[in-house]
Amino acid sequence: MPKCNRRCAAEAKITLAYGPHHYCAEHFTDFFEHRVTKTVRKFKLLKRGEKVGIGVSGGKDSLALAYLLGKYYAKSNELLALMIDEGIEGYRDVALRVAKKYCDEWKIPYQVVKLKDRFGYSTTEVVHKINAQPSLGTSCAFCGSFRRTVMNEWAREQGCDKFATGHNLDDEAQSVLMNVFSNNLPKMAWLGPMTGAEGFDGNGLFVKRVKPLYECPEKEIIAFDAFKGIEHYSEECCPFSWMAKRNHVREMLNHFEDQFPGTKFTVVKWLQDLKPHLEDVKPAGRLQACTACGSPSNSPLCRPCSMVKLLDAVKAAPRKAVAAKGGPTCAETKGLHDREFV
Ligand code: SF4
Ligand SMILES: [Zn+2]
Ligand SMILES: [Zn+2]
Repeated sequence: MPKCNRRCAAEAKITLAYGPHHYCAEHFTDFFEHRVTKTVRKFKLLKRGEKVGIGVSGGKDSLALAYLLGKYYAKSNELLALMIDEGIEGYRDVALRVAKKYCDEWKIPYQVVKLKDRFGYSTTEVVHKINAQPSLGTSCAFCGSFRRTVMNEWAREQGCDKFATGHNLDDEAQSVLMNVFSNNLPKMAWLGPMTGAEGFDGNGLFVKRVKPLYECPEKEIIAFDAFKGIEHYSEECCPFSWMAKRNHVREMLNHFEDQFPGTKFTVVKWLQDLKPHLEDVKPAGRLQACTACGSPSNSPLCRPCSMVKLLDAVKAAPRKAVAAKGGPTCAETKGLHDREFV
C-alpha cells in the first residue's frame, strides 16, 4: 500500500480509483465528512433551526447519516429518527436493534412505525399475496411505496421541515438509469439531492426529502463505517431483495465503474445538467390529498391505498413465506463485501 496523500507518514488504507487518492483511515474519514457537509451547503439541504426527521434502518447508509447529522447538526437543528419496521423476520427486527443502540448512543430520539399497523400488511404478508397472484408485481414495489408514505406522514405528524434519507451516489445513479430504462421522465425530474423543487410543498402535504450522502459512493460509506467502528447491520439482505430490478442495474453500473472509474458521478452529474430542462414534467401544483388517507397524490386515491385494495382482493393467500428465488439479491450485486475494510 502507498502512503497517505495528505502529507502524513501513515500507510494508506483506502485508494479511491477516480482520483486516484490514497488515504489513511483518519484522513479518509475527514475527507468523507467534509464532502457530506459540503453537499448539505451546496444544495441547501438543511437550514439552521429546521426540525429534521432521519430515516434509520440499521444499515450502513442510514447509520453513517445519523452519525454525521448528530455530529454536525444536532446543535443547530432538532433531530428525530424514524425506524420503519416492514415486518420481515430475521432481517429488519435484527437491523432495528442495531439502529436503536446507535440512536441511544448518539442521543437521537426515535420512533418505530410498523407497515402492518399502517396498511394492514407486513411486507412478508404482501409476499404471501404475490405468491397467490404473481401479477400483483414485486414486493419491493409495495414495500417502497408504503415506506415513502410512512416517511411523509410521520414527518408531517412530527412537524418536520425536512426528512433525511441515507440515499447514496450508487442509489441515485441506479435510479437515473432505471428511469431511462422505463422512460419515466416525471420520476426522473423528481430525483436529486432534494426531492421536490425549492418552494414546492405539494399544497402543504409533502415534506421534502433530502439526501446528504448524495455524493458518497457506497464503497466509501462502507469504509467510513468500518474506520469509525460503526457496526451496521450487514449480515443478510432482505430475503425478498431478489425481486428488485435495481439489482440488475446495480450489477451493470458496478461493472462500468470498475472499468471506467467515475461513471457513477458522471451519471448523477448528467441528471443535474438535465434537470432544468425537466421543469415541465414535474407534478408541481398538481398534488391533491388522497380521498382515503390524506396523503399527497396525483389522483383521488393514492398509490398505496390502491395497492391495499389490490391486496385485499386476493383472498386465497398461501402460508408459504417466500417465493422461489428468481433473480440476483442485493448482496450478490454489491460487488464488495462490507468486511473488506474491517
Ligand atoms: S429489498 Fe424490497 S422488499 Fe426488501 S426491504 Fe427493500 S424494498 Fe422492501
Ligand atoms: Zn493520512
Ligand atoms: Zn391514500
